[in-house]
Amino acid sequence: MAGVAPAELPPPVDAALEFVGPPTDPEDERIEVGVAIVGGGPAGLACAIRLTQLLEREPELAESLGEVPVAVVEKGKTAGAHTLSGANMRPSAMRELFPDLDPSEWPVYQEVDKDAVYLLTKRAALPLKPMPPNFRNHGNYVTSIAKLSRFLGERAEEAGVYLLTETAATKLLVSDRVVKGVRSGDKGRDREGKELSNFEPGSDVIARATVLAEGTAGHLTGAALDYFDLHGHMPQRWELGVKEVWKVAEPLDRVIHTMGWPLRKGARWNEFGGSFIYPMGEDKVCIGMVCGLDYTDATFSVHDALQQLKTHPFVREILEGGEREAWGAKTIPSGGYWSMPRSLSVPGMVIAGDAATMVNVPELKGIHYAMHAGMYAAEEIVAALKRDDVNFSAYDERVRKSVIGEDLYRSRNMRQPFSKGFFVGGAIASAMTITRGALPGGRWKQAPDSEEEMVMGGAGERYPKPDGKYLFDKLSSVFASGNATRDDAPNHVRIQTHVPREVAQTWVSMCPAQVYEIPEAQLSSGAAEVDVNVTASNCVQCGAITAKGGRLTPPEGGDGPLYQEV
Ligand SMILES: Cc1cc2nc3c(=O)[nH]c(=O)nc-3n(C[C@H](O)[C@H](O)[C@H](O)COP(=O)(O)OP(=O)(O)OC[C@H]3O[C@@H](n4cnc5c(N)ncnc54)[C@H](O)[C@@H]3O)c2cc1C
Ligand code: SF4
Repeated sequence: MAGVAPAELPPPVDAALEFVGPPTDPEDERIEVGVAIVGGGPAGLACAIRLTQLLEREPELAESLGEVPVAVVEKGKTAGAHTLSGANMRPSAMRELFPDLDPSEWPVYQEVDKDAVYLLTKRAALPLKPMPPNFRNHGNYVTSIAKLSRFLGERAEEAGVYLLTETAATKLLVSDRVVKGVRSGDKGRDREGKELSNFEPGSDVIARATVLAEGTAGHLTGAALDYFDLHGHMPQRWELGVKEVWKVAEPLDRVIHTMGWPLRKGARWNEFGGSFIYPMGEDKVCIGMVCGLDYTDATFSVHDALQQLKTHPFVREILEGGEREAWGAKTIPSGGYWSMPRSLSVPGMVIAGDAATMVNVPELKGIHYAMHAGMYAAEEIVAALKRDDVNFSAYDERVRKSVIGEDLYRSRNMRQPFSKGFFVGGAIASAMTITRGALPGGRWKQAPDSEEEMVMGGAGERYPKPDGKYLFDKLSSVFASGNATRDDAPNHVRIQTHVPREVAQTWVSMCPAQVYEIPEAQLSSGAAEVDVNVTASNCVQCGAITAKGGRLTPPEGGDGPLYQEV
């Protein structure tokens, strides 16, 4: 069945041209800071906290960095408002960043001492024994990254970091190929871009060092990769995760991962992924579904596959009598080692965390890598600035020789075999795990998610009907994310708006927040090409559209979800 690849309809954007340029504010109106960090997630905030720890010992350097030595630019309403994760965290980075803090003082629910993996069929849940080693989580901690980021944000502010929330970094400031900082976005425009009465123009934030810690599908990161030609050896790929938090009647006693149903096994559909179900203390659990965005069925929806998963008797038993409290969605960069930027630094700038693909996909781990990378960035930036140098290449070497580089190298070919189907992929990935990545070695090819040809494959017909109590539609999910973006905000999602039906349907089904719609009349007429209407105010900035043929740009600072506990 021939299909259409979204990559054939590229979004109307030239990132390097549009989002990179020299400072434009008059010199006396520019905001001067020492280090500008874009992103108040684990990577950015660990970097900021480490910087303050180091600058305390370097008063001369601190003095030379001016009134604001460290600033974090965060587009969410608070730190954590836009961060979503499992979140089953390896504790190494927390221990290193806060050596005097006991884990009982960390924002975590509990240490993991029991875990299990199940292969689901439509009715049964078969425990996998022995458990695949990549799912072992003993000694890790279950947290909520929204809470963790708030905790780190508070610690950073206490240490003197200037946390600029509700501020989107929209342009990378570059002069003579040296990064000079970022420009923040305008606020107070209407849908057509006209200035409203509360209009506030953006500002140039000039810095000696800039850290891109934007997380998945980073806006400035994408522009920097294009402008400085830093793209990895293989194209990036993403998974989309959709998560719910439930208040439950009975505590869950273990960390659970599932594979198999409701995803289809056939290589034709490329449905790679699974679910996680984690206890959050005595009275809450979270449940999430994560799927690769290289699937080929235009009607496939991770949001609805999660609803379908909840109809399984094994899952019903866990959630029975409970109530959904929160919802969110986010992508994970899953290209692995070969998709990491060729260099993690250019003069004046470094890239850390998910923005630089620091995720171990087979283990679904990224939080500790992001924090370690943020700390390494802080250390190498301070070392360089002490020499009055803005060459931060030592950071790049440091990451590659660290636990980040080593772990990612070991799992470098782990994701690719799954496009051969669940069982073949599983067998090859097991061989890789046992031989610590040696067999089969080499560099396995991978194509961008947007180059998969999309067909109408029927997944959408199998999804259960929402009842508003146990199974939910996308709009009620958006409401549960805390999103309260004004309806007349400018559109920040760049796509072509008249496209082949398969591509339009891909966006409609994929988007967990119901941003895209095909007009009813065109749907029923069976037209080969259709319009795509965009309700940008629903967007929870998961990043999936960047993977599948469009381009997410940051909306006005403060817009989007207000995650509390996902
Ligand atoms: C469904 C799911 C499950 C996961 N499960 C686990 C798990 O169990 N364990 C684990 O270790 N990892 C897990 N991960 C991965 C983990 O969440 C990430 O690796 C981690 O969040 C990366 O941290 P970061 O700081 O790099 O990015 P993020 O946490 O994404 O933070 C980036 C921040 O930057 C801000 N930002 C971005 N662009 C801009 C801009 N232009 N201007 C201003 N602000 C900006 C964002 O609003 C956000 O606050 C999971 C991820 C997902 C999606
Ligand atoms: S429009 Fe927003 S929520 Fe929807 S897929 Fe794109 S980034 Fe995700």
